[in-house]
Amino acid sequence: MNKHKRCSTFLPLLLCLLLLIGCAGKPSVEGVETVSAEEIREMIREARESALAEESRLAAAEETKEISSADKVYWTDSGQVWHTDPACASLKRAQNIRTGSVTEAEHAGKSRICSYCEGK
Ligand SMILES: [Zn+2]
Repeated sequence: MNKHKRCSTFLPLLLCLLLLIGCAGKPSVEGVETVSAEEIREMIREARESALAEESRLAAAEETKEISSADKVYWTDSGQVWHTDPACASLKRAQNIRTGSVTEAEHAGKSRICSYCEGK
């Protein structure tokens, strides 16, 4: 759920790509192109694809790690969602805060996580 963590895996790759493009853009002194523009495009495409694959793999891993069905969550009788953070702003006005597992929250009619808590 940590956006910074995901960025940090993607950004260095992006910087490498920019560097690669920058080098390729320079005219060769000997007039010999060792890497064609087409090859660079292909390399960029592959790097981008593997970065995206890595990112989604991390995202999936984080999701299962951060919210397991056994984790304690919070919800209110009137709300439509459950919360992972007891200090969530939308819980502050609540009269009766229930706690339990995600499964219990779902049984109580809360079908999804609060968008504020999800973004944390
Ligand atoms: Zn919340």
